[in-house]
Amino acid sequence: MGIVVQKFGGSSVADVDKIKNVARRAVATKAEGNSVVVVVSALGDTTDDLVELAHQISEKPPEREMDMLLSTGEQISVALLAMAIHALGHEAISFTGYQVGILTDDSHTKAKILDVNSERILQELNKGKIVIVAGFQGVTIDNDITTLGRGGSDTTAVALAASLKADKCEIYTDVDGVFTADPRIVPDASLVSEITYEEMLEMAATGAKVLQLRSVEYGRNNGVIINVRCSFTDCAGTVVKEEDQGMERPIISGVTHDASEGKITIFGVPDRPGIAAKVFRPLAASNINVDMIVQNVSYEGFTDISFTLGLDDVPRAEPTIQEIVRELGARGYDYNKDIAKVSIIGAGMKSHPGVAAEMFDVLAKNEINIQMISTSPIKIACVIDASNVETAVRALHEHFQLSEEAVTSETL
Ligand code: ASP
Ligand code: MG
Repeated sequence: MGIVVQKFGGSSVADVDKIKNVARRAVATKAEGNSVVVVVSALGDTTDDLVELAHQISEKPPEREMDMLLSTGEQISVALLAMAIHALGHEAISFTGYQVGILTDDSHTKAKILDVNSERILQELNKGKIVIVAGFQGVTIDNDITTLGRGGSDTTAVALAASLKADKCEIYTDVDGVFTADPRIVPDASLVSEITYEEMLEMAATGAKVLQLRSVEYGRNNGVIINVRCSFTDCAGTVVKEEDQGMERPIISGVTHDASEGKITIFGVPDRPGIAAKVFRPLAASNINVDMIVQNVSYEGFTDISFTLGLDDVPRAEPTIQEIVRELGARGYDYNKDIAKVSIIGAGMKSHPGVAAEMFDVLAKNEINIQMISTSPIKIACVIDASNVETAVRALHEHFQLSEEAVTSETL
């Protein structure tokens, strides 16, 4: 009998009726002859509410205690879902991450899964039970509870699928799957039926919120095919997998955007070897993730360095940056929070020159100034003024003909 892992996000278990809906889906999957493992997130906005509560007590709560608090959200949903399945006359058993041996490192609030001990899960599946596992949480070797970073239940599901050698890993959410752009900005965005791990990684890293970045990495590293689907429809969703020969491959698979970053520019930095390291090492030491970096051509021995970072990290980064400015004898720094990143992603651009130029043309025609550019073999990202982001996304989506009717694809 094959094992199916199904993960349901917070919006899929936001209230009692939705929890009952999840119970019905799990039971139906079991009735088809599968062993079923269900991973659930906390109900609705529970995690946000818990974060808010913690911040009412302390500006900077200890991260270990934060994990202790946040992991309670998922403990509520697993118990309620098990009850809902029992109410349908089927057997289910709920577990915390600790109980099923999801071993992580000790970086609290963003822990990485090191190992999964699937023995207990297999025992219960063999008894014919539906096994329900709390997403987003694990335990260190010292038995301290950890969480896996926001959206981490996706990673729990993929890690369980890998460890159980599941036939399927389905990630259920409140949208039909991965779209060619955010449908709230581009109403005729189309559903992407298949996408490579590499493209999905770029999409997740540039603002697509449907899957946690780390879950895609875990899937790629362990060969878990991920199917993103909707909890409320029968849509087949999006399949994330290795690139293969027969795969339908448009040049551009999607347009993403991200307004959650700010830009810092350090002015008048002396231009000599080792300076970039002096700027970025202290930021790394403070655990601040820097995204794009641009260093300008130097003028009379001085240069400007700009970089982007998460808006949430700015309060923690500013003292470090002030220190860097002082230490290097730089002229000063400037912080701009009104920026956004717009990106186009597509494995097809590897074999199609000129895609970057096309993107820049589209932005120019819409009088949108580009502040920074970064590329990978399958991505071009531009930082622009935040006020232009919707225009940019729509114009790029239209130019690359990504809407339902216009979709043009080629097979390798
Ligand atoms: N409940 C956690 C969060 O809101 C984990 C998840 O939903 O995947 O981030
Ligand atoms: Mg999620």
